[in-house]
This record gives sequence, structure tokens and C-alpha cells, in this order.
Amino acid sequence: MGGVWVALVGWLIAMKCPYCGFTQDRVVDSRESKEADSIRRRRECEGCNKRFTTYERIDEIPYMVVKKDGRREKFDRQKVLSGLLHACEKRPVPAVNLQQIVDETEAFVVDSPERERSTNEVGELIMNRLKNIDTVAYIRFASVYRDFKDVREFKAELEELLSGKDAKKRKGSF
Ligand SMILES: [Zn+2]
Repeated sequence: MGGVWVALVGWLIAMKCPYCGFTQDRVVDSRESKEADSIRRRRECEGCNKRFTTYERIDEIPYMVVKKDGRREKFDRQKVLSGLLHACEKRPVPAVNLQQIVDETEAFVVDSPERERSTNEVGELIMNRLKNIDTVAYIRFASVYRDFKDVREFKAELEELLSGKDAKKRKGSF
């Protein structure tokens, strides 16, 4: 696991609130400066509500994920990996598979012409990959990610999954 973590460190450039260190904020104003190749952003910390200004070079503008409520958050490889590690705890899933999923997820976000993807799209992609690797990990991840509204919904998902597995065994194929 160590190698994956070391490889990931280079990707982590968290925007921290200078007052409280919180890493989630809302952009309240953006101004592009063509000459300077930079964007000045006025941000409001979601932890302490204080405002601060950041300057980002154009090529450092982060890729974003859009949450259900419309808020945007920087795409964070580490966040994807910790979700995966949590789901795969004590499961026989090789670290290389996790890194693959993280890479694919990042490629998916970076591929977007709008530089952003919805958390829903990102979650579906991760779930589809996990489903093929480890059923238990998939169920764990899905139960967190899908935020199943009631037990029946989750049960239906499980039954679908299990019947799929049985059919595979019986027919020896899809
Ligand atoms: Zn703050």
C-alpha cells in the first residue's frame, strides 16, 4: 500500500483556508487576468465563513466534482482512494486494482470539456469497477455512496446482484 500513497502525495494540492485550515470553500467571485495567465478568486471558507483571495495559474485550475446540491469541490484522488480503501477493508483486493480505479476516475473527470463531473457520474463509474472486482466491497461502497433511502431499495439492489451471480454460475457465462 505504501507505494500507492507515495505516488498520490504529488497529486494533493489542497486549498486550505488561511484562517482555520479547512479545505472546503465556496468561490464568491472570479476574475480572469489574461496578461498574467491567472485567475483571482474570492473564496469563502465553509468552516469559518471568512473570505480570502487566491490566485491560480490557468493551467492549475482544478477539476471539479459537482455535488447533488450544486456545490463544487475539487476532484481529489485521495478522497477516491480513501473511499475505496474503506470499502475494500479486509477484502482480497490488490492495491494495484485500487490505483487503477483512481486513475480511471481521474481520467474521467479530466476528460470532461467542462472540467467537472457530477458526484453521481463519478460514483457510478467507481461502483461499476468495484462490482467486477469484489461484491462485498461493491456493496459497502454503494451503501455509502448511493445513500439508499430505505432498506427495500438496498435489498432490491442486492437481490439483483446475487441473482446475476447465480445465473453466471449456472450458465458459465453472462
Ligand atoms: Zn476557515
